[in-house]
Amino acid sequence: MKAAPPHPESLRLEPQLEPPLASLLRAPAFLHSLVDALGSPLNVVLPERLAENVERFRAVHRRHSLSGQVFFAHKANRSSALVRRLAATGAGIDVASLGELQHALGAGFAPDRIVATGPKDPEFRWLAALSGVTVGVDGQGELAELAALVRGRGLARLRVLLRLSGFEAASGITVRSRQSRFGTSVKALDGLLDELERHKDVVEPVGVAYHLDTTSLDEKAIALEGCLRAMDALRRRWGDRPGPSGHAGKGGARAWAVDIGGGFGANYLADADDWDRYTTALTHAVLGRRPPLTWRGHGYGLRVENGTLRGALSLYPAHRPLSGAAYLDALLSRPAAALGGRPLGTLLLENLYDLYSEPGRALVDQCGLSLARVLEVRRTEAGERIVRLAMTAGDVALEEHGVLMDPVLVPRDGTPPDAAHAGPDVEPSAVEPSAVYLTGSLCLEADLITRRTVFLARLPRPGDLLAFANTAGYCMDFSATSAQRQPVARKAAAWEEGGSWRWCLDEQYWPISPSGGLQA
Ligand SMILES: *Cc1c(COP(=O)(O)O)cnc(C)c1O
Repeated sequence: MKAAPPHPESLRLEPQLEPPLASLLRAPAFLHSLVDALGSPLNVVLPERLAENVERFRAVHRRHSLSGQVFFAHKANRSSALVRRLAATGAGIDVASLGELQHALGAGFAPDRIVATGPKDPEFRWLAALSGVTVGVDGQGELAELAALVRGRGLARLRVLLRLSGFEAASGITVRSRQSRFGTSVKALDGLLDELERHKDVVEPVGVAYHLDTTSLDEKAIALEGCLRAMDALRRRWGDRPGPSGHAGKGGARAWAVDIGGGFGANYLADADDWDRYTTALTHAVLGRRPPLTWRGHGYGLRVENGTLRGALSLYPAHRPLSGAAYLDALLSRPAAALGGRPLGTLLLENLYDLYSEPGRALVDQCGLSLARVLEVRRTEAGERIVRLAMTAGDVALEEHGVLMDPVLVPRDGTPPDAAHAGPDVEPSAVEPSAVYLTGSLCLEADLITRRTVFLARLPRPGDLLAFANTAGYCMDFSATSAQRQPVARKAAAWEEGGSWRWCLDEQYWPISPSGGLQA
């Protein structure tokens, strides 16, 4: 092997850190005391930031004069603290299992602030129908089963949202939205509306819905236009409502709603250049034009065949200038090509439709971090430097979700992580940017926290913590297992009060301070 030139520090992928997450990371003694008490790995959630994110989505509603509701997609995080804090904001919640529905009801969500989506087992369907939440219906079969349940048990009329998929642009035929295994194809809408009419006595349509797991605004715009056309069909069949209220809580008839699902995304990286430099270098490494940047030449979807680059990067676009509430704003501002060229938001407003959305990742953006203690730092025979952590790959599923982002070093001794002043007794390599692989604590070759070389400001020492920032969306508990009887991470909720950090166990959190007010 040729002598590898030193890796430049510029291949760092520094996380985007905003308040209060940024200030939490400036409290190393607090973070160390949490891990000392609760063990490694440890997840910390920041409920106040969730409330702030809800407010950002609401501000976009106001900018477009749209009423409606923001439903947090619960599946992004199991936390009780986050869901209880959310309940106090007046936002809604999208639940996708019996357990999530029970959790939402127990956190104080009234049924009119809950939508039940996804594949449903009989118990989930039963509790959803009995409690009277709005049910997102995937197809004719599910609608018929729900209707039979409501009729058979004499339950109150059930509100349903018709989830649609398979949209195509009405103008050209070139652009279509991606396939989904959920929802009814818009081509089969008539059949679904027939089914709906057969059950007029027991179900009441609220509107139509889609959820597309894509970053593409084009695809989302096509789906939203498709929904607007589907609403015309629904209203022709069902007749207009006697004066839509448009505003929850005013009583009387509800407005029709268009539910545009989730997928607003989050921005993980502080610097667009970091991302460009890194992906370019990764491509060069796969082509063999520079030393490897990954464990055993892993290519994140890229490979070389006969000297030519093949495949595509299967990574989350970790630097996303347009994400979250700003992405919603951009979608609503887009002209609807096939519907007279006016902005999609304007069309929703003119029809007096309520806008529903179901953001998951975007609502828990900046809402927490995952901590792991460094157990060991060593070199392999091949010369790779390994940092072994007291966590498993499932505890921080950044890699699994294709999110490449460096952890933040939280030194045990309180040395600032970027310290070049480590003192004369420290070996020089300990203060240079250090190229390492992060491994987990399972007896499994595959238990790598990252399959890429991570460039840290300095080499960690046993006892230091690595903080994986911004993991609250899917990367905290979605993939955690208790393999080898290792404990899954505990979760703590943290908030700032009078200039210092407070915490409690996630399940102990309620959004009331000891003095009785809302925690702020
Ligand atoms: C997962 C999911 C969401 C949330 O998606 P994000 O990408 O996290 O915003 C919303 N709605 C439905 C139906 C989902 O399955």
